Amino acid sequence: MKNSKQCPKCGSTDIIVFMNDGYPEGAHHGIMTGITIMSTVPLHRYICCNCGYTEQWVNRSNIGKLKQCKKAKPINK
Ligand SMILES: [Zn+2]
Repeated sequence: MKNSKQCPKCGSTDIIVFMNDGYPEGAHHGIMTGITIMSTVPLHRYICCNCGYTEQWVNRSNIGKLKQCKKAKPINK
């Protein structure tokens, strides 16, 4: 939905986004990749206002931090 601007389930274009999942900027809410709050990767939630489908995205600049995390489990290995 972030890229297509359209819901993949119902086709609606009535999409809203909650940056940092609705938490204040810098609130350190999201995926914990380490033991400190500074290691938290924010999630941005896109919601279809027609059917309620939601998608969550992380900034690509944080992918490296996620991949290095020991809790990350590759599903195609
Ligand atoms: Zn929808």
